[in-house]
Amino acid sequence: MTRLQRRTFLIGGLASAGATILSASSASAALYPFTLGVASGEPSADGFVLWTRLAPSPLNADGLGGMSSANVAVEWQVSTDRYFTTLAASGTFTATQSWGHSVHVELTGLLPGREYWYRFRAMGHISPVGRARTAPAVGTSPSLTMLFASCSHYEAGYFTAYRRMAEENPDLILHLGDYIYEGGAGSTGVRTHQPSTEISNLASYRVRHALYKRDPDLQAAHAAAPWLVVWDDHEVENNYAGLIRNDTSPAGDFTARRAAAYKAYYEHMPLRAAQAPSGANLQLYRRLRWGSLATFHMLDTRQYRDDQACGDGTKLCPAADDPARTLTGATQESWLLNGMSQKLGTWDILGQQVFFAQRLAAADGSKSMDSWDGYTANRGRIQNGWDAQGNRSTVVLTGDVHRSWASNLMQNYGTQNRIIGTELVTTSITSGGDGNATDNGLSNLNPHVKFYKNLRGYVRTVTTPTQMTVDFRALDRVTVRDYPVKTIKSYVIQAGNPGLQTP
Ligand code: FE
Ligand code: CA
Repeated sequence: MTRLQRRTFLIGGLASAGATILSASSASAALYPFTLGVASGEPSADGFVLWTRLAPSPLNADGLGGMSSANVAVEWQVSTDRYFTTLAASGTFTATQSWGHSVHVELTGLLPGREYWYRFRAMGHISPVGRARTAPAVGTSPSLTMLFASCSHYEAGYFTAYRRMAEENPDLILHLGDYIYEGGAGSTGVRTHQPSTEISNLASYRVRHALYKRDPDLQAAHAAAPWLVVWDDHEVENNYAGLIRNDTSPAGDFTARRAAAYKAYYEHMPLRAAQAPSGANLQLYRRLRWGSLATFHMLDTRQYRDDQACGDGTKLCPAADDPARTLTGATQESWLLNGMSQKLGTWDILGQQVFFAQRLAAADGSKSMDSWDGYTANRGRIQNGWDAQGNRSTVVLTGDVHRSWASNLMQNYGTQNRIIGTELVTTSITSGGDGNATDNGLSNLNPHVKFYKNLRGYVRTVTTPTQMTVDFRALDRVTVRDYPVKTIKSYVIQAGNPGLQTP
């Protein structure tokens, strides 16, 4: 048995291969339900969330995954070793059709700052094994290896970057949004979206999430470490703002669409019950302590934002500077600054979606209306707020733009006066397809922006009480399977001394 379990663990996302072996011994076994893999998330000092979803036929158009309306008892185990010789916790979760037979187990009572392994059993089958980790205890600051990623379009390439992330054996993975894309099937990708039309109801969002989750490279990344996730726009609809839709196709009530998208997101992510949706709302912004080393402030820059000023796109738009405009909403803005003022850890790390630093696209002042440049007063209040509070180790993590960028955050972008923080922007996992290493997006309009590269990949950070080392990790191609990853740029950020430094 141990050998089989080990094999199941080693083959990672190729769960059905392991299942064939296990089910062969059980004449009464139902179809294999763990086609979407396993995941953990939301680590605290005494626990984390375990996730899976029972779906023997994950792409069934009704979104029910091939499950009946019956409740299913799902046994789970947490062990201090990967062979499950010593159990640290175990129990049973009742999976219901109303939540797509998803499983969300919130664990407490574990030891801080250590690895655990977990697995599930249901319908006569054992799941692959995942590795999780508790956060360190408050008062301790062990080194943290954290990866962050964004923008994984299924059709644009293979998820090799996710596989490479799993191989890094990180303590923690952040996903900053565009985990799925909502569009219909294209004709130019390396593989094809299901359903084939733009998703807009609960069944189709579930099938799209399941399509992505079936990917063995993505399953490997989920099984390798706990994740902290926040969404961007494509989990619902391109460039939506609050309850304002981007376009009218497909037709229908956008509030109902957002409710369906948020529910499917919750059902497929290792989130706590505090993040369960309520109608068209979902409380996604939240704070997580990593001992006394770092505090993760995970932001939601979609649900509460005002509509893009002057429409979407990049343009000159004085209305973007209206002090009344907000990207975060007033409640989240004050929640963030209040949390930062508590200085719970050495580092304040903001995990969020859209480009934070000023980024002029032309000398006339044209900027991207979907990013913080479209909500400059909100940005100014936040960064001046943390500066006034004395937060000297603030790092903003960003996704969305499908390029690697690194910037110093300035108290005044116009005069380039005083660095008050640092921004690291991860490129996409696949979105945009293969990159172009000679593409140069730096402009003398933005002297605080120091790095740009158009390749696919992710960012690796190693954080200690004195510094954060940053490696931009990239793959030359994603339209061909199994490319290696390499470091294309490295920086050091010193605690208490904001800004990018050459290592
Ligand atoms: Fe994207
Ligand atoms: Ca986006």
